[in-house]
Amino acid sequence: MILTDTHTHLYSEAFDEDRDEMIARALKADVKRFFIPAIDSTYTQSMLDLEKKYPDHIYLMSGLHPTHVKENYREELDHVKQMLAQRKFYAVGEIGIDLYWDKTFLKQQQEAFRTQIQLAKQYQLPIVIHCREAFEEIFEILEEENDEKLFGIFHCFTGTKEQAEKAISFNMKLGIGGVATFKNGKIDQFLHEIDLKHIVLETDAPYLSPVPYRGKRNESAYIIEVLNKLAAIYNMVPEEIANTTTENSRDVFGV
Ligand SMILES: [Zn+2]
Repeated sequence: MILTDTHTHLYSEAFDEDRDEMIARALKADVKRFFIPAIDSTYTQSMLDLEKKYPDHIYLMSGLHPTHVKENYREELDHVKQMLAQRKFYAVGEIGIDLYWDKTFLKQQQEAFRTQIQLAKQYQLPIVIHCREAFEEIFEILEEENDEKLFGIFHCFTGTKEQAEKAISFNMKLGIGGVATFKNGKIDQFLHEIDLKHIVLETDAPYLSPVPYRGKRNESAYIIEVLNKLAAIYNMVPEEIANTTTENSRDVFGV
């Protein structure tokens, strides 16, 4: 069994005290592939260090996170462009729109999202979408950018069944994590109606811990809780869910 964590911030300061032990726990739990979303240029060096240390397990993305779209967003987008031109990345992410924390930079968030979708297409890469209280705004841009080059993952999917179907219609897989284990998470109500071929697993560590770790620091080894929840939802054995979702991640990331 090989598990793939399609979204984990292993370089986060939250792991500064015990990063290697935390990664060892994940590897022991059969989590062998870690896809690492970017936030902004201040984290680039830590991401490259991580890749150097675990070259067989780490796959990096490049991108500007919507909550980090601020006054300097054009410089940050230049950094993303430079990185993509310099070396191999496996996705442009995480990118999108977040209206939960702050609406001040909505226009700039929209521009950054659009620019980065176009970069992904230029490099034939998937996008990894961050969407918080912004389904309408995200779908509006996906609609405009929709063509055969658009594909990727709707990370931490928490919408309705209709929104799930809409995301899939734009060639997106749904990134399912800790929220699926929450009592009020809601997506567990309809997930069985969504074909497993559209699903990938993620933790979003150090955030959004699954039950029974809810509220605590999340780590990639906890993806087992998400796996078991999906096994229950789809009435399949965990190994089968692991293998299919890892295959799905290969389809998206090309590795
Ligand atoms: Zn994230």
